[in-house]
Amino acid sequence: MIEAEQLRKQYVMGDSVVDALDGVDLRVPQGEFISLTGPSGSGKSTLMHILGCLDRPTSGVLRFGGEVISNLSDKQLARIRNQKIGFVFQTFNLINRTSAVDNVMVPLVYTRRSFGRKTAMEAMERVGLAKRAKHRPGEMSGGECQRVAIARAIVNKPQLILADEPTGNLDSKNGEQIMRIFHELHAEGITIVLVTHEMDIAAQAERMIQMRDGKIVEDTAIDDRQREEIMTVSHEVQTRAFRAKLAHKTGQAATGASRSTDTN
Ligand code: ADP
Ligand code: MG
Repeated sequence: MIEAEQLRKQYVMGDSVVDALDGVDLRVPQGEFISLTGPSGSGKSTLMHILGCLDRPTSGVLRFGGEVISNLSDKQLARIRNQKIGFVFQTFNLINRTSAVDNVMVPLVYTRRSFGRKTAMEAMERVGLAKRAKHRPGEMSGGECQRVAIARAIVNKPQLILADEPTGNLDSKNGEQIMRIFHELHAEGITIVLVTHEMDIAAQAERMIQMRDGKIVEDTAIDDRQREEIMTVSHEVQTRAFRAKLAHKTGQAATGASRSTDTN
Protein backbone atom coordinates (compact mmCIF):
# COMPACT_ATOMS: atom_id res chain seq x y z
CA MET A 1 0.00 0.00 0.00
CA ILE A 2 2.80 2.41 0.96
CA GLU A 3 6.28 2.30 -0.51
CA ALA A 4 8.85 4.80 0.67
CA GLU A 5 12.29 4.98 -0.90
CA GLN A 6 15.13 6.92 0.67
CA LEU A 7 12.91 9.49 2.32
CA ARG A 8 14.78 12.47 3.69
CA LYS A 9 13.46 15.41 5.58
CA GLN A 10 15.67 18.31 6.56
CA TYR A 11 14.67 21.23 8.72
CA VAL A 12 16.80 24.33 8.39
CA MET A 13 17.09 26.20 11.66
CA GLY A 14 19.17 29.32 11.12
CA ASP A 15 22.67 28.05 10.34
CA SER A 16 22.06 24.45 11.30
CA VAL A 17 20.28 21.66 9.45
CA VAL A 18 18.36 18.91 11.24
CA ASP A 19 18.15 15.59 9.42
CA ALA A 20 14.77 14.56 10.82
CA LEU A 21 14.59 11.68 8.30
CA ASP A 22 17.86 10.38 7.00
CA GLY A 23 17.08 7.86 4.24
CA VAL A 24 14.02 5.85 5.25
CA ASP A 25 13.00 2.82 3.16
CA LEU A 26 9.67 1.32 4.13
CA ARG A 27 7.02 -0.92 2.61
CA VAL A 28 3.67 -1.21 4.29
CA PRO A 29 1.50 -3.95 2.79
CA GLN A 30 -2.27 -3.47 2.84
CA GLY A 31 -3.91 -4.73 6.02
CA GLU A 32 -0.78 -4.75 8.16
CA PHE A 33 -0.66 -3.47 11.74
CA ILE A 34 2.70 -1.83 12.41
CA SER A 35 4.06 -0.16 15.52
CA LEU A 36 6.74 2.50 15.35
CA THR A 37 8.94 3.16 18.38
CA GLY A 38 12.14 5.06 19.07
CA PRO A 39 13.52 7.76 21.32
CA SER A 40 12.07 11.25 21.30
CA GLY A 41 13.42 13.21 18.33
CA SER A 42 14.18 10.09 16.26
CA GLY A 43 11.84 11.18 13.46
CA LYS A 44 8.65 9.20 14.17
CA SER A 45 6.24 12.12 13.86
CA THR A 46 8.05 13.47 10.81
CA LEU A 47 7.68 10.09 9.10
CA MET A 48 3.99 9.88 10.04
CA HIS A 49 3.34 13.37 8.68
CA ILE A 50 4.98 12.49 5.38
CA LEU A 51 3.21 9.11 5.09
CA GLY A 52 -0.03 10.93 5.91
CA CYS A 53 0.48 13.60 3.22
CA LEU A 54 0.53 16.31 5.88
CA ASP A 55 4.07 17.19 4.84
CA ARG A 56 6.46 16.49 1.98
CA PRO A 57 9.88 14.87 2.04
CA THR A 58 12.92 16.98 1.12
CA SER A 59 13.87 14.11 -1.20
CA GLY A 60 12.91 10.50 -1.83
CA VAL A 61 9.91 8.81 -3.41
CA LEU A 62 6.62 7.95 -1.77
CA ARG A 63 4.03 5.71 -3.40
CA PHE A 64 0.51 5.14 -2.22
CA GLY A 65 -1.29 2.19 -3.84
CA GLY A 66 1.36 2.11 -6.56
CA GLU A 67 0.96 5.78 -7.47
CA VAL A 68 3.86 8.18 -6.87
CA ILE A 69 2.49 10.88 -4.58
CA SER A 70 5.63 12.71 -3.51
CA ASN A 71 5.32 15.06 -6.50
CA LEU A 72 1.59 15.81 -6.36
CA SER A 73 0.17 19.29 -5.85
CA ASP A 74 -1.10 20.39 -2.43
CA LYS A 75 -4.66 20.03 -3.63
CA GLN A 76 -4.13 16.48 -4.90
CA LEU A 77 -2.36 15.53 -1.67
CA ALA A 78 -5.22 16.98 0.39
CA ARG A 79 -7.66 14.86 -1.59
CA ILE A 80 -5.70 11.63 -0.92
CA ARG A 81 -5.37 12.54 2.74
CA ASN A 82 -9.08 13.21 2.99
CA GLN A 83 -10.27 10.09 1.15
CA LYS A 84 -7.73 7.41 2.04
CA ILE A 85 -6.02 8.27 5.30
CA GLY A 86 -7.24 8.77 8.87
CA PHE A 87 -4.98 10.53 11.36
CA VAL A 88 -5.15 10.17 15.16
CA PHE A 89 -2.99 12.46 17.32
CA GLN A 90 -1.83 12.26 20.92
CA THR A 91 -3.63 15.50 21.79
CA PHE A 92 -6.88 14.59 19.95
CA ASN A 93 -6.90 17.89 17.98
CA LEU A 94 -10.65 18.39 18.31
CA ILE A 95 -12.46 21.69 17.86
CA ASN A 96 -13.72 22.63 21.31
CA ARG A 97 -16.46 25.07 20.41
CA THR A 98 -18.51 22.52 18.50
CA SER A 99 -20.13 19.16 19.28
CA ALA A 100 -18.50 15.75 18.99
CA VAL A 101 -20.56 14.79 15.93
CA ASP A 102 -19.70 18.09 14.21
CA ASN A 103 -16.03 17.31 14.80
CA VAL A 104 -16.53 13.92 13.19
CA MET A 105 -18.16 15.62 10.20
CA VAL A 106 -15.13 17.82 9.48
CA PRO A 107 -13.56 15.43 6.90
CA LEU A 108 -16.91 15.12 5.10
CA VAL A 109 -16.42 18.40 3.23
CA TYR A 110 -17.33 16.77 -0.07
CA THR A 111 -20.49 15.15 1.30
CA ARG A 112 -24.05 16.47 1.45
CA ARG A 113 -24.77 17.70 5.00
CA SER A 114 -27.77 15.48 5.86
CA PHE A 115 -25.98 12.40 4.57
CA GLY A 116 -22.82 13.55 6.34
CA ARG A 117 -24.58 13.72 9.69
CA LYS A 118 -25.85 10.16 9.27
CA THR A 119 -22.37 8.93 8.30
CA ALA A 120 -20.82 10.76 11.25
CA MET A 121 -23.34 9.21 13.63
CA GLU A 122 -22.43 5.76 12.31
CA ALA A 123 -18.79 6.49 13.09
CA MET A 124 -19.77 7.69 16.60
CA GLU A 125 -21.64 4.43 17.09
CA ARG A 126 -18.61 2.52 15.88
CA VAL A 127 -16.57 3.90 18.80
CA GLY A 128 -19.42 3.45 21.27
CA LEU A 129 -20.26 7.15 21.69
CA ALA A 130 -23.57 7.62 19.87
CA LYS A 131 -25.18 8.89 23.09
CA ARG A 132 -22.50 11.57 23.56
CA ALA A 133 -22.73 12.94 20.01
CA LYS A 134 -24.06 16.37 21.04
CA HIS A 135 -21.54 16.94 23.81
CA ARG A 136 -18.59 19.20 23.29
CA PRO A 137 -15.07 17.83 23.69
CA GLY A 138 -14.67 19.91 26.87
CA GLU A 139 -17.49 17.92 28.47
CA MET A 140 -15.85 14.58 27.73
CA SER A 141 -13.04 12.54 29.29
CA GLY A 142 -9.69 12.12 27.53
CA GLY A 143 -10.59 8.57 26.52
CA GLU A 144 -13.89 9.75 25.04
CA CYS A 145 -12.17 12.60 23.18
CA GLN A 146 -9.76 10.13 21.62
CA ARG A 147 -12.68 7.93 20.58
CA VAL A 148 -14.27 10.99 18.90
CA ALA A 149 -10.95 11.59 17.15
CA ILE A 150 -10.96 7.97 15.94
CA ALA A 151 -14.55 8.39 14.70
CA ARG A 152 -13.34 11.46 12.75
CA ALA A 153 -10.41 9.42 11.37
CA ILE A 154 -12.64 6.59 10.11
CA VAL A 155 -15.61 8.63 8.87
CA ASN A 156 -14.42 8.50 5.24
CA LYS A 157 -13.68 4.76 5.53
CA PRO A 158 -9.92 5.17 4.98
CA GLN A 159 -7.60 2.36 3.91
CA LEU A 160 -4.92 3.57 6.27
CA ILE A 161 -4.89 4.88 9.83
CA LEU A 162 -1.84 6.71 11.15
CA ALA A 163 -1.86 7.15 14.91
CA ASP A 164 0.86 9.21 16.62
CA GLU A 165 1.05 8.21 20.32
CA PRO A 166 -2.75 7.88 20.53
CA THR A 167 -2.62 6.51 24.08
CA GLY A 168 0.10 8.92 25.26
CA ASN A 169 -2.30 11.19 27.15
CA LEU A 170 -4.51 8.42 28.55
CA ASP A 171 -4.44 6.18 31.61
CA SER A 172 -3.91 2.48 30.95
CA LYS A 173 -7.61 1.57 31.12
CA ASN A 174 -8.59 4.15 28.49
CA GLY A 175 -5.48 3.22 26.51
CA GLU A 176 -6.63 -0.40 26.38
CA GLN A 177 -10.05 0.65 25.15
CA ILE A 178 -8.46 2.68 22.34
CA MET A 179 -6.25 -0.29 21.44
CA ARG A 180 -9.33 -2.56 21.29
CA ILE A 181 -10.84 -0.22 18.70
CA PHE A 182 -7.64 -0.27 16.64
CA HIS A 183 -7.64 -4.09 16.73
CA GLU A 184 -11.24 -4.16 15.51
CA LEU A 185 -10.43 -1.74 12.67
CA HIS A 186 -7.43 -3.88 11.75
CA ALA A 187 -9.65 -6.99 11.72
CA GLU A 188 -11.85 -5.15 9.21
CA GLY A 189 -8.87 -4.85 6.90
CA ILE A 190 -7.64 -1.33 7.65
CA THR A 191 -3.87 -0.81 7.57
CA ILE A 192 -2.57 0.73 10.79
CA VAL A 193 0.72 2.43 11.67
CA LEU A 194 0.88 3.37 15.34
CA VAL A 195 3.60 5.33 17.13
CA THR A 196 4.08 4.55 20.80
CA HIS A 197 6.82 4.53 23.41
CA GLU A 198 5.13 1.81 25.44
CA MET A 199 6.50 -1.64 24.64
CA ASP A 200 3.35 -3.49 25.67
CA ILE A 201 1.39 -1.42 23.16
CA ALA A 202 4.04 -1.72 20.44
CA ALA A 203 4.04 -5.49 20.88
CA GLN A 204 0.34 -5.67 20.04
CA ALA A 205 1.20 -5.01 16.39
CA GLU A 206 2.19 -7.63 13.80
CA ARG A 207 5.39 -5.86 13.00
CA MET A 208 7.59 -3.60 15.12
CA ILE A 209 9.75 -0.89 13.62
CA GLN A 210 12.28 1.09 15.59
CA MET A 211 13.76 4.43 14.59
CA ARG A 212 16.87 6.23 15.73
CA ASP A 213 18.40 9.47 14.41
CA GLY A 214 16.05 9.61 11.43
CA LYS A 215 16.69 6.03 10.34
CA ILE A 216 14.92 2.70 10.70
CA VAL A 217 17.26 0.57 12.82
CA GLU A 218 15.02 -2.43 13.47
CA ASP A 219 12.12 -3.92 11.54
CA THR A 220 10.74 -7.23 12.81
CA ALA A 221 7.61 -9.26 12.33
CA ILE A 222 6.52 -10.70 15.68
CA ASP A 223 4.60 -13.89 16.40
CA ASP A 224 2.43 -14.71 19.42
CA ARG A 225 5.29 -16.25 21.41
CA GLN A 226 7.53 -13.21 20.96
CA ARG A 227 4.59 -10.93 21.72
CA GLU A 228 3.99 -12.71 25.02
CA GLU A 229 7.68 -12.48 25.92
CA ILE A 230 7.79 -8.75 25.23
CA MET A 231 4.60 -8.19 27.24
CA THR A 232 5.98 -10.16 30.20
CA VAL A 233 9.29 -8.27 30.18
CA SER A 234 7.46 -4.96 29.76
CA HIS A 235 5.20 -5.72 32.74
CA GLU A 236 8.22 -6.69 34.85
CA VAL A 237 9.98 -3.45 33.94
CA GLN A 238 6.83 -1.47 34.75
CA THR A 239 6.35 -3.26 38.07
CA ARG A 240 9.98 -2.60 38.98
CA ALA A 241 9.68 1.07 38.01
CA PHE A 242 6.45 1.37 40.00
CA ARG A 243 8.05 -0.23 43.08
CA ALA A 244 11.09 2.05 42.78
CA LYS A 245 8.82 5.09 42.56
CA LEU A 246 6.81 3.91 45.54
CA ALA A 247 9.98 3.25 47.57
CA HIS A 248 11.27 6.70 46.61
CA LYS A 249 7.98 8.30 47.70
CA THR A 250 7.84 6.32 50.95
CA GLY A 251 11.47 7.32 51.54
CA GLN A 252 10.59 10.96 50.97
CA ALA A 253 7.60 10.71 53.27
CA ALA A 254 9.77 9.07 55.94
CA THR A 255 12.44 11.80 55.64
CA GLY A 256 9.71 14.43 55.67
CA ALA A 257 8.20 12.90 58.80
CA SER A 258 11.53 12.70 60.63
CA ARG A 259 12.33 16.29 59.64
CA SER A 260 9.05 17.51 61.04
CA THR A 261 9.69 15.53 64.24
CA ASP A 262 13.13 17.17 64.43
CA THR A 263 11.69 20.67 64.26
CA ASN A 264 9.01 19.91 66.83
P1 ADP B 1 9.78 12.10 17.29
O1 ADP B 1 8.36 12.15 16.85
O2 ADP B 1 10.43 10.76 17.10
O3 ADP B 1 9.97 12.60 18.69
P2 ADP B 1 10.16 14.25 15.37
O4 ADP B 1 9.86 13.67 14.04
O5 ADP B 1 9.14 15.11 16.00
O6 ADP B 1 10.62 13.08 16.35
O7 ADP B 1 11.50 15.11 15.23
C1 ADP B 1 12.67 14.65 14.58
C2 ADP B 1 13.71 15.76 14.58
O8 ADP B 1 13.28 16.82 13.74
C3 ADP B 1 13.95 16.37 15.95
O9 ADP B 1 15.31 16.70 16.05
C4 ADP B 1 13.10 17.61 15.92
O10 ADP B 1 13.62 18.59 16.78
C5 ADP B 1 13.17 18.03 14.47
N1 ADP B 1 11.94 18.71 14.02
C6 ADP B 1 10.70 18.18 13.95
N2 ADP B 1 9.82 19.06 13.46
C7 ADP B 1 10.52 20.20 13.21
C8 ADP B 1 10.19 21.49 12.68
N3 ADP B 1 8.94 21.78 12.30
N4 ADP B 1 11.18 22.40 12.56
C9 ADP B 1 12.43 22.10 12.94
N5 ADP B 1 12.83 20.92 13.42
C10 ADP B 1 11.89 19.97 13.57
MG1 MG C 1 6.62 12.59 17.91
